[in-house]
Amino acid sequence: MPIEESRIFTKDSRQPDGEQSIPFRQLQDVEPLADSFSRKFSYLRLSLTDVCNFRCRYCLPDGYQSSGRQHFLQRHEVGHLLSAFSVLGTRKVRLTGGEPSLRRDLTSIIETTAATPGIESVAITTNGYRLQKLAAQWQQAGLNAVNVSLDSLDPRMFHAITGDSRFALVMDGIEEALSLGYQAVKVNAVLLKGLNDVQLDSYLEWIRSRPIQLRFIELMETGEMSELFDKHHVSGTVIERQLLSNGWQLKPRGKHAGPAQVYSHPDYLGEIGLIMPYAKDFCQSCNRLRVSAVGALHLCLFGDEGIGIRDYLQSADDQEALIGYLRESLSQKKLSHQLGEGNTGVTPNLAFLGG
Ligand code: SAM
Ligand code: SF4
Repeated sequence: MPIEESRIFTKDSRQPDGEQSIPFRQLQDVEPLADSFSRKFSYLRLSLTDVCNFRCRYCLPDGYQSSGRQHFLQRHEVGHLLSAFSVLGTRKVRLTGGEPSLRRDLTSIIETTAATPGIESVAITTNGYRLQKLAAQWQQAGLNAVNVSLDSLDPRMFHAITGDSRFALVMDGIEEALSLGYQAVKVNAVLLKGLNDVQLDSYLEWIRSRPIQLRFIELMETGEMSELFDKHHVSGTVIERQLLSNGWQLKPRGKHAGPAQVYSHPDYLGEIGLIMPYAKDFCQSCNRLRVSAVGALHLCLFGDEGIGIRDYLQSADDQEALIGYLRESLSQKKLSHQLGEGNTGVTPNLAFLGG
């Protein structure tokens, strides 16, 4: 759609590369990004690297394997990307990876993200190994929310699943984020039959006095781990039944909420979220897009090859063209993933795109 230049105003001076006076349009007057099924996309998950230092069994069981020197998006490219997305209605950005905290410039990228007009919430998904040290610095830079992966409350099981022994450090990081008063502290646990699926009681006890949203994520099949999937996949409905029979209640969906079904209980400060990608109609409420660490737009976590947009991220002058290209690209978004039919798309593992 044509954008009226008369509605232009100026960004503040905290923008990437010290660039000033980048034209920026009044957000409410621009048609938000939508696909052919009238879904709107207010949530962007941006991967900053696909490198990781953990070896989660379901993700990078052999550790990160480099495929040559990768050039991940730089701060100025992130700035241009987010400016365009926010014009198109993005209000929440999640920084992910690989492990995003391996990036030495993460704090400045958080700053750039938080300073982008229109972005209301900046979140990160992390394995938590640098959280204790950096949670305060990230918060000062503008981070509102942290999701920490914690697949077990038992250090030995944690090690068996993640290949890492820094359980205590991750736990300290979670406590630090709580004490700093982050808007949201969420903990992700991938549900694994025979490993952590019997630990519901200890998780519930843990969140009785902590305002944590604990999210059980159903194991998703990816290109590299069909065997593990067959052995360890268990439906989230197992947890759902236990919650419902113990007085937990489903909450209404919040603004910009993801696909998690969230349950609360009057005796608990924390909540439980269930992410069940194999459930019927899971994709109906899809409100998210993904950009890989090398600047490819992915319309679905389990979709086709990414759509290269990096060429449009080099200069603020390309914003108009990028906006047009993003609108055009959205017409290719399909109604649903085909995980149920065993089609996992091009994603070899979730470190590639950030989950
Ligand atoms: N390294 C960070 C972390 O682990 O939080 C961010 C990237 S990680 C790919 C994002 C999320 O995806 C984590 O919560 C992880 O547990 C989840 N994940 C990875 N592989 C998965 C799979 N096959 N099925 C379900 N969740 C998965
Ligand atoms: Fe690394 Fe996160 Fe994948 Fe674990 S889930 S291997 S921490 S990217």
